Amino acid sequence: MKILIVKCLKDNYSYIIYNEENLLAAVIDPSEAEPVINEIKRNNLKLKYILNTHHHYDHVGGNLKLKEKYKCEVVGYEDDKDRIPEIDISLKDNQKWENELFECEILHIPGHTSGHICIYIKEINALFTGDTLFSLGCGRIFEGTYAEMFNSLNKMKKFPKKTKIYCGHEYTQKNSEFCLSIDTKNSKLKNKINKIKNNIKLDKPTIPSTLEDELECNIFLRADNLEIQKQLGINSTDPIETFTKLRELKDNF
Ligand code: ZN
Ligand code: FE
Repeated sequence: MKILIVKCLKDNYSYIIYNEENLLAAVIDPSEAEPVINEIKRNNLKLKYILNTHHHYDHVGGNLKLKEKYKCEVVGYEDDKDRIPEIDISLKDNQKWENELFECEILHIPGHTSGHICIYIKEINALFTGDTLFSLGCGRIFEGTYAEMFNSLNKMKKFPKKTKIYCGHEYTQKNSEFCLSIDTKNSKLKNKINKIKNNIKLDKPTIPSTLEDELECNIFLRADNLEIQKQLGINSTDPIETFTKLRELKDNF
């Protein structure tokens, strides 16, 4: 199985997963149809499924056109079935769903939206995190509480460290500046930033990241770090308080 990274809109990524033998394919979060259609044509793929992490237009914008063209099925979270255009198959929290391409595991990770999910595909070692976990950042909280977002990020820590993280946007550089502004002594972060800068210079995606990198460098996954709490002037050791402060600072960064 292979993953193609498809640039969409201004800074979105859609991901095509396909089987190199039979050319069956699925797409995650098609922001728009055209760039996805181009990749499908270029690789002679047969699109079977569209999977959506959440209902925002920049993640579902291509659903209708792709479904009409390829007669594929749309898959999303059950509680969002009224908001995900053209949905055919609805999945539950903690559900394992198998199709002719792969088996995946769904986790409900509310905060950015109330019906946000992530999709884990063990066979390719990949976690699709939509707008919840970004490389070196996390999504804005639109429909949930800070505690919900914090718990959702924590849920994803359970996957193997080598898991590749495929997120919904290319926000990595700006995120890295925020991390470094607070986590000033983190040498692993500094190393990662060098690699990021190099990719951007070559016009290459900074995605995928790895869960290991994120655990070590993403400040939103490090809200329990005493050094970071000290830096923020927080006296309590409640990581939710630290996380809340970080998210508020980032909103105005
Ligand atoms: Zn979104
Ligand atoms: Fe988005």
